[in-house]
Amino acid sequence: MLADAHCHLDDRRYDDDRREMIARARAAGVTHLVTVGCDPEGIRRARALADVHADTWCTVGIHPHHAAEVTDDFVDGLAAHFAHPRVVAVGECGLDYYYDHSPRERQREVFARQVALARRVKKPLMIHVRDAYDELMDILLAEKGQEVGGIMHCFTGTWAWGKKALDLGFDLSIPGVLTFQKPGELPTIVREAPLDRLLTETDSPYLAPVPHRGKRNEPAFVAHVADAIAAARGLDPEETRARTAQNAIRRLGLR
Ligand SMILES: [Zn+2]
Ligand SMILES: [Zn+2]
Repeated sequence: MLADAHCHLDDRRYDDDRREMIARARAAGVTHLVTVGCDPEGIRRARALADVHADTWCTVGIHPHHAAEVTDDFVDGLAAHFAHPRVVAVGECGLDYYYDHSPRERQREVFARQVALARRVKKPLMIHVRDAYDELMDILLAEKGQEVGGIMHCFTGTWAWGKKALDLGFDLSIPGVLTFQKPGELPTIVREAPLDRLLTETDSPYLAPVPHRGKRNEPAFVAHVADAIAAARGLDPEETRARTAQNAIRRLGLR
């Protein structure tokens, strides 16, 4: 077993070879794919993919980049999607103060609304955070995000903050950044965090791991992430793939 807990299979960059790309993931041993719908059009496309492929689930939410494009009513209306068993989490949602594609105030409002939504529909949160760690934690606590928990996707923060997230009930999803020359605190994080709180992801088509760095990423490459976790912890690669996949299955309810 092997999971890609966060990928964007709907991305236009796959329009010419989506079927082959998904086939390559299966050939590489990927058994569980979670594709992210995080803007109005992306939500439609992600849902369609989860409907067609038995090994693919989807999330529904609004990315902080798109926070300024949606109304409060639109966000609240996302609740209807969660009646569908293959829609497994609210997100990706959160704060991105690095790109600032939406005004920060609107990012905070739309994120808070999605934490409330997750509590209402009783689904985990899939969180994106960049350069806004303290602000994100403040909103999570104010809106009682710990009631549903979830995952910190593409986690590249500090181990100190990662520990706080774990304590609050959020697992850490590890991206291909772990394989980079400058992986930040990720090697420490994947060694120190409990193995049953770590997930593997690609965030395809972004962030291709070594040896594919700089190219279009795809879910088949998630094996490199699992193997890097195994190497950092001195574990068997097969066991690490299976254990991290079990974590994704349990945390996101992939069934
Ligand atoms: Zn993200
Ligand atoms: Zn993403």
